[in-house]
Amino acid sequence: MPCPRPIARTAAAVALILGLTMVAMIAVAVAPARGSGPRPSPGLGLSPALGARASHRAPERMVIGHSVQGRPIVAWVLGPSTASRRILVIGVIHGNEPAGLAITRALASRPVPVGVQLWIVPELNPDGVAADTRQNAHGVDLNRNFPYRWQFSGDATFASGPRPASEPETQAAMALVRRIRPAVTVTYHQHMDLVDESTGDHGVARRYAQLAGLAATCLTFLPGEETAWSNHTFPGTTSFVVELPAGPVGPAALARHLRALRAVELGQRSGSATGCDSVTPAL
Ligand SMILES: [Zn+2]
Repeated sequence: MPCPRPIARTAAAVALILGLTMVAMIAVAVAPARGSGPRPSPGLGLSPALGARASHRAPERMVIGHSVQGRPIVAWVLGPSTASRRILVIGVIHGNEPAGLAITRALASRPVPVGVQLWIVPELNPDGVAADTRQNAHGVDLNRNFPYRWQFSGDATFASGPRPASEPETQAAMALVRRIRPAVTVTYHQHMDLVDESTGDHGVARRYAQLAGLAATCLTFLPGEETAWSNHTFPGTTSFVVELPAGPVGPAALARHLRALRAVELGQRSGSATGCDSVTPAL
């Protein structure tokens, strides 16, 4: 026969449960107030073995500069500042090529491996994203504005800007790269559907291409481009471009790109450091 529970003890237990429930509700209510930050993507996490060794700290929001129209250029930082390997991922540099945002959003919600600090800049060109234009609010193609082998161009589509690094968005990117010296920088574009092996370690870009299911090729050089500046200025580091296909990134492609980025974080590479698998004219 069950013992009757004293009423006072029952009331205390109910009060405790109510209290804990309220604490949990407050925690749930506060969490989304981290605001405009990346949202968790269930099912995109690490394997249990790797995840156990990974950092689960929430991303830290930093403003690394402001656009022509005053929009903040935001970076999300995952992993400790003491990490020996830093990786930079830029979601959008041409504002009308936004497919990379799906990748940076998912990337920000998963842990990074031990020894890695990951910097994510979803929108290097927030004015261009807002206006759905390739260029920034000055009409400058930021990927023609970097100082390495800069050349003036007044072309309406590929305008270089009046001088090297004239644009605040370019300056913000350069300051960040100088500050954190990423071992690898990945920048997303559209719509060529390939990986540009660029001028860093081709093996890093090639490994990414293998895992992402894209062709690895060398796009011909463009004056003032971001990757060439980074690779030239910081020898031994690798900056390369991923040209996503037109349209949004679907779930299967997203999973492939996240696997490819994990390989970047872990320092994987494949094949020759300097040889091009093929050569493709740049747009
Ligand atoms: Zn582009």
